[in-house]
Amino acid sequence: MKVTFPQLGNTCFAAKAIFDDIGIEYILPPVSNKTCLEIGSKISPEEMCFPFKIMMGAYIQSIEKGADTIILPGSCGPCRYGEYCELQMNILRKLGYNIKFIVIDTPGSIGKDELLNRIAEVGKSSEKSRKQKMLAVLNGYKIIRLMDDIERKTRMLSGYEMNRGECKRILRECKKEALNTFGSKEMIKVLMRYKEKLSSVKVNMCKKPVKIAIIGEIYTILEPFSNQYIEDKLMDMGISTQKTLTPSWWVKNTVLSPFKLNSIDIRRASKKYLPLYIGGHSRECVGEAVLAHKNGFDGAIQILPMGCMPEIVSKSILPTISSDRNFPIMTLVVDEMTGDAGFDTRVEAFADLLERRRMKNVLYGY
Ligand code: SF4
Repeated sequence: MKVTFPQLGNTCFAAKAIFDDIGIEYILPPVSNKTCLEIGSKISPEEMCFPFKIMMGAYIQSIEKGADTIILPGSCGPCRYGEYCELQMNILRKLGYNIKFIVIDTPGSIGKDELLNRIAEVGKSSEKSRKQKMLAVLNGYKIIRLMDDIERKTRMLSGYEMNRGECKRILRECKKEALNTFGSKEMIKVLMRYKEKLSSVKVNMCKKPVKIAIIGEIYTILEPFSNQYIEDKLMDMGISTQKTLTPSWWVKNTVLSPFKLNSIDIRRASKKYLPLYIGGHSRECVGEAVLAHKNGFDGAIQILPMGCMPEIVSKSILPTISSDRNFPIMTLVVDEMTGDAGFDTRVEAFADLLERRRMKNVLYGY
């Protein structure tokens, strides 16, 4: 068995470390790029979501390198994500690939026993003991948390840094070095070193940078290629950003959801505008917008793929939140036709607007 999996933000670091530790052969999926999108767009139904197409392109590239099993995290409620696995299997079969899919779904959707069966299916080609496998998974979770934490700090500190570009460079080097390690112990060491390094970044905490919350559909938030590298661009502009939906958030949310203890702050914040889960992460998007305003952010940017059903609902609610709270929110829709120039112009104009509002507040005390 040679496994592969879709790119989803920092999850690839944990997956790599876990498979190294338990001795399962794997093919690291390519970093999402234009080629993935071109291949995926050719073989996917036109009306399918943008993330689906990028994933398909990456699968084909990994399969051509020898992958025969795809591990896919499942369940995002009643949106097209529920159809991903079946449709992806059908398309690959029609193209002549005989690929096995293992969908790691939530216990609420498939039951605890089935979930354990599927996890056992992944681990069955490993010769390691149950204890070693458990330890590998725990270390994988530690890696996701560390990497998300490093990313969160660098994205926030970039607005305060004295040497423009330092945080971005540290984050890039950290990710590159982490991928060159073998096993969780080595990777954790690298991440701890970079975490330490961040405390020596020279910052001016008297600065008052514009702060933007990045909200919206989880894949397009997490995958830089699909959001035109928006966080890096904002870092270059000296803007601090924050996103709540990260892989470590996802793990915690999934584990706590059967006990209804997940994302309590988001659920409370979204209650007035969207009191139900309607699929995807639309409720989170609405709650995050409210929380961003409450936590002193200057604005929020919602990113969603063209035709994303749950995010269209939150998109229609965000203007009400914006006018209720005098809080600027911009929506960016991405798909395979999205180009750099128009996208960048909108981001720059929004950042400019927030900067002017900030000045006005300082001058006139609004
Ligand atoms: S959340 Fe949106 S983009 Fe993601 S699978 Fe569902 S419909 Fe598609």
